[in-house]
Amino acid sequence: MTGESGTRIALIYPELLGTYGDGGNAIVLAQRLRWRGLPVEVVEIPAGESVPGSCDIYLLGGGEDEPQVLAAEGLRKNNAIAWAVTEGAVVLAVCAGYQVIGTSFPAGDGKIHDGLGLVDVETRRSFDSSEQPLPPRAVGDIVVEPAPELRLPVLLGYENHAGRTRRLPDGQGMPLGLVRKGIGNGTPDQTDGIVDRHVIGTYLHGPVLAQNPALADLLLSWVHGPLPALVGPVETEVLRRTRMRALEVSA
Ligand code: GLN
Repeated sequence: MTGESGTRIALIYPELLGTYGDGGNAIVLAQRLRWRGLPVEVVEIPAGESVPGSCDIYLLGGGEDEPQVLAAEGLRKNNAIAWAVTEGAVVLAVCAGYQVIGTSFPAGDGKIHDGLGLVDVETRRSFDSSEQPLPPRAVGDIVVEPAPELRLPVLLGYENHAGRTRRLPDGQGMPLGLVRKGIGNGTPDQTDGIVDRHVIGTYLHGPVLAQNPALADLLLSWVHGPLPALVGPVETEVLRRTRMRALEVSA
């Protein structure tokens, strides 16, 4: 499904949604294609520019509350990503990006803002109106046991967010996985993220695809079909092993 220039990866509003280094996800995806001899183009979409509907993969990263509101406002103008998703495009949205692709999210101004409504989740500071004080910011390591359907090894990352995110009743999609360590969605079902069609939302920074190359390959396989396995590079494997040891996680 890729064009002449190869797989087109859109990095959305890096100056608004780049605070947590999630732009690294574009580097990982591009490099894993190049290592397989496949052409790739990373298209950075600065805030204020319209988002093309023609990309294969859209990446949205984490950000602070105010830039997040600006990002949602900009993206809601033409919502090209929603159209692209109906055509089969892949989306990876992390933290603020995850909240933005949902239906609504809170910001520092105390208001609830509209998201893109791409996936059936909503975000609040707490879903219990009597909860005072509000739950603390979720900051630290996070480990997620992915939904078995995804056939992925355990997901590693770190999280840093105030929002809690829940699926809408009777909403589409399924959680990305169960939280083994950390907070994730912060809901009683102890899940993180959502998967719906080729859209993944998650609270995992890392960048998540650097720490979880199998997840990167899953996204790429949604564009290309099954891809030949890659061995290494050694740095990727060492990073993963080191993190697993530090987090006391077994494979
Ligand atoms: N501003 C959002 C929150 O605090 C998202 C933060 C982030 O992207 N890390 O919940």
